[in-house]
Amino acid sequence: MVWPFASSSSSSEPTRPDRADARRRSGDGASARRRDSSDADARRASAAPRGDRPSRERRSGAPRPSVPALHVSEENAECPVCFEPLCAAPTAVFVSRAGGRRTCAHFFHLSCANDLARHLHLECPICRVPFAAVKPVPNPRDDPNAWFAAVDANGDGKLSPAEVLEVLRAQLPCDWRAIERELRADLFRRWDPDGDGFIERREMTMPGGLLDFVTTNFPRRASMDVARDRKPPSLAAAPDEWFRFWDEDRSGTLDKDEVTRALIKTFGLSEDLRQVRDMRGVVEAVFGLFDPDGSGSIDRREFLMRDGLAETIVASAGVR
Ligand SMILES: [Zn+2]
Ligand SMILES: [Zn+2]
Repeated sequence: MVWPFASSSSSSEPTRPDRADARRRSGDGASARRRDSSDADARRASAAPRGDRPSRERRSGAPRPSVPALHVSEENAECPVCFEPLCAAPTAVFVSRAGGRRTCAHFFHLSCANDLARHLHLECPICRVPFAAVKPVPNPRDDPNAWFAAVDANGDGKLSPAEVLEVLRAQLPCDWRAIERELRADLFRRWDPDGDGFIERREMTMPGGLLDFVTTNFPRRASMDVARDRKPPSLAAAPDEWFRFWDEDRSGTLDKDEVTRALIKTFGLSEDLRQVRDMRGVVEAVFGLFDPDGSGSIDRREFLMRDGLAETIVASAGVR
């Protein structure tokens, strides 16, 4: 599961392993270190510049992991709308009005953000913070100042480590966890010679600074070769394998966004934003029927049983 969902009566339920715990158990030390509390604070502050990020943690009385898990699209450096790699196309962010401040720290494909704004609610699909306009993030080679302004999520005139990581994850075809380790090790210190923990505009443009790094590594669209995902097993022929394939955090459950992502990829819908919207709507409409306790996740049995969620979604969406 991606988010620490829980119903108000969930304290008696067996605790589902969260993503971070699963990683710690699997011995991914880098990942575990990444989730220390200062990092979590940075991420939270970055994700909600005004401190109004609606948190599902707060709705529940059950004990929660101290660190919020990343959304499935963030884990995979994908656009939260179409679930294709973010760096594969120009990106955009949400702002309070044309030319205004960013409303949250999330990145989207420009075309997907525009489609979302035109056809769906004016709120971020990850954090649900309302927005008023879509702001393209320029290529830093063309307009470093506008790029800096777009990346500066909370508008304080300087870039925090969390803001830097968000944009690198969004715009570079990279192993973002490796970059995160580098940032932690000494990359950020090199970009922040005055050591105040932030990259100011003048530090960004200095030789060997952040801008050099980004423009050197920024993908050139024509030659970019984004690795395609492994081909998923067939839902019809190997439903068990299909479920395991998409249960990336090995929690034994899939949440609504994981199901949406899996179906969009399985049926190859990401090129057609209307079909993406339709599939999202179908999952939204039927998910609750198969999740009576409102936990936000369903297990494999619930998903694969006769007339279960998988069959219902495929039938409702009219896709094969
Ligand atoms: Zn997209
Ligand atoms: Zn958001």
